[in-house]
Amino acid sequence: MTILIKGGDIVDPIKGVIGKHDIVIERERISKILLTGSLTETGSEVTIIDASGKLIIPGMIDMHVHLREPGHEYKETIATGSLAGVCGGFTGLACMPNTEPVNDNVSVTEYILRQASKAGKLKVYPIAAITKGRKGDVLTEFGDLKKAGAVGVSDDGSPVINSEVMRRAIEYARYHNLAVISHCEDLNLSAEGAMHEGEISTKIGLRGIPSASEEIMVQREISLARLTGCPVHIAHISTAGSVSAIRRAKEDGVSVTAETAPHYFTLDHTELIGYNTNFKMNPPLRTPEDVLAIKKGLADDVIDVIATDHAPHSRLEKDLEFDKAAFGIIGLQTALPLTLALVREGVLTIQAAVKKLTLAPAGILGISGVILKEGAIADLAIIDPECEYVLNEEDILSKSKNSPFIGKTLKGKNIITIVEGRIVWS
Ligand SMILES: [Zn+2]
Repeated sequence: MTILIKGGDIVDPIKGVIGKHDIVIERERISKILLTGSLTETGSEVTIIDASGKLIIPGMIDMHVHLREPGHEYKETIATGSLAGVCGGFTGLACMPNTEPVNDNVSVTEYILRQASKAGKLKVYPIAAITKGRKGDVLTEFGDLKKAGAVGVSDDGSPVINSEVMRRAIEYARYHNLAVISHCEDLNLSAEGAMHEGEISTKIGLRGIPSASEEIMVQREISLARLTGCPVHIAHISTAGSVSAIRRAKEDGVSVTAETAPHYFTLDHTELIGYNTNFKMNPPLRTPEDVLAIKKGLADDVIDVIATDHAPHSRLEKDLEFDKAAFGIIGLQTALPLTLALVREGVLTIQAAVKKLTLAPAGILGISGVILKEGAIADLAIIDPECEYVLNEEDILSKSKNSPFIGKTLKGKNIITIVEGRIVWS
């Protein structure tokens, strides 16, 4: 099977927009990348894709996704999450271990990988738990989990409260070449909070989660990264204070990386005034000043990665009173247009935006092959940055529909996704 993609503008996360090219894909690899017009013969049985006016980017990798399988298949399965992923332009998803059972042992990691290959859409990279049962006490078997296919460890959904346990986790993870991803939250400070603590929470009478509950733990992880000399990745940062702490740590040479999610640079806590539970997530939407700081952090590369924290919940968990509803929103099909909005605003260049969705997360997780070059595995997306559309609930391929962007006009859409030389979405 040969595919010829004609006339698209390639966006390279290192070199930038390198102009109109034709890409030839034979079996699972890119065999040729040529300036448009210079390809002489194409042979027979070629699938030709006209990509003029489109951008061609390496397949996006979402390093923070909840696929809910095993255990919560009524919210999402690896198959439905994979489909939503390829629709959104992703060729790889790293899935968090807060499943049931928890992904804290080899059999769950292997199960996830089997289900992913059965789904047959994209690559799934399991993140295993740091501690058994995500209870925060006893470390999991990092070496075995790595061998089984885990790319990182995290107790996401919960922090590792015990600093000594976290210190050992950071050291062992480095020894086994696993990324450590920290969910930063001081549970005593955030307890029973439903939204950001500030003037809006006071006005609408909801219990608040102060910024400090995130920032205290960000500071701790920075201290542990400094102490151990080993890398730590901070998940879903949402506050100006986290951005400035990470900025200072990076300036000091501490090995810390960070991600944020599109909702933290797109929405703020004023959205909560209507008590719509699709604006409820953890960490919560913060103030407009925090949103500005997150954008600045992305622009300055203090925040390395854009990840969705895709968190499917059914109506059973969301159609409740605000303080009882579950935290989290889906994000696989909205990450690209929301990130492209930052490019139009001038916050990020297209190259920087693509890097935060491809090369940067791949680097942290130790995934190779996210550059479009001859000989590389053909994982890529063809996107139309100008396509404008209203996001309808029926367009959502995830099993859960908990998105605050339903009914909103978005600009920028993934058109075709190719994984290992196969068209998995068009
Ligand atoms: Zn989390």
